[in-house]
Amino acid sequence: MRKFPRLSTCHEDPTPYPPGTAYMDGQYLPIGEARISVLDNGFLHSDATYDVAHVWNGAFLRLNDHLDRFFAGLDKLHMTIPYDRAQVTEILCNCVALSGLQNAYVEFICTRGLSPRFSRDPRDCQNRFIAFAIPFGSIANPAQLKHGLHVAITDLLRIPPASVDPTVKNYHWLDLVKGLYAAYARGADTAILVDGAGNIAEGPGFNVFAVKNGAILTPKNGVLQGITRQTIFDLSAALQVSCTAGTLSPAALITAEEVFVTSTAGGVMPVTRIDGQPVGSGKIGPITARMTEQYWRLHDDPQMRTVVEYPKMPDTGTPGA
Ligand code: PLP
Repeated sequence: MRKFPRLSTCHEDPTPYPPGTAYMDGQYLPIGEARISVLDNGFLHSDATYDVAHVWNGAFLRLNDHLDRFFAGLDKLHMTIPYDRAQVTEILCNCVALSGLQNAYVEFICTRGLSPRFSRDPRDCQNRFIAFAIPFGSIANPAQLKHGLHVAITDLLRIPPASVDPTVKNYHWLDLVKGLYAAYARGADTAILVDGAGNIAEGPGFNVFAVKNGAILTPKNGVLQGITRQTIFDLSAALQVSCTAGTLSPAALITAEEVFVTSTAGGVMPVTRIDGQPVGSGKIGPITARMTEQYWRLHDDPQMRTVVEYPKMPDTGTPGA
């Protein structure tokens, strides 16, 4: 008879985890100890919605907008959680405060959960809420932020909105991951996927913007309505720069004067090369630079901030380490 290795009761995971704090099942715990059942439909079927907000210098940016999107997603997916907005806010702030992180990436998730009898009916599942705070991360690394990203326009079709509603933030990422591999094979940093008509959709974790004749254009349909995308609309209105959502063809993107992408994970990120060719002058353009500057300045606006209260350190009295 074939011998199987002895069953171990040890739950140690060899994967190194970043520092951070998670919340699940009514308790806060180190991020490396936050685990879900392999029977959770969030894991088995990607049956989940989530949101990602960030904390910069001890305060969330536009947390209310992230909460609006998250709660709207729950409704659309027929999911419920036992917490209201104020309680979710408290949980998120506690995750950040307990982690001590001044700059954090904060994800909150609702999975379909599992049914006690492993029924295949999603209505039988107990939905599960999870939140965590880990160090802030950006899609673009410091060199890419300084010199611009190199993107590949792939012919991969972003999952159509008639199949999965892109306004519900979701984990249907196999098309995006495929796009990343296609981009790497072409020597690019990241990928842009197209919609059913061959026009620009979005990329792995970001919305796309093109600047032509001083006006900004971003895809209207088939994309996540990013909170950072909304910030670009707001900043454009304040700066009296035209910014519209419409059809953006690959040809229009390639011939744009400037291109940038936006995400909570990194903010406004310049694109200076598409498929090996320079965008405009090949340097970060003035509108991209202005939007980037204004975006980071917005982090000081009290109306945009939800301040985290960190526990006082007993010895020095300084906020979280
Ligand atoms: N598009 C997709 C597919 C995303 O996953 C994200 C963020 O993760 C975005 C766009 C940008 O959205 P936001 O600005 O809200 O981070």
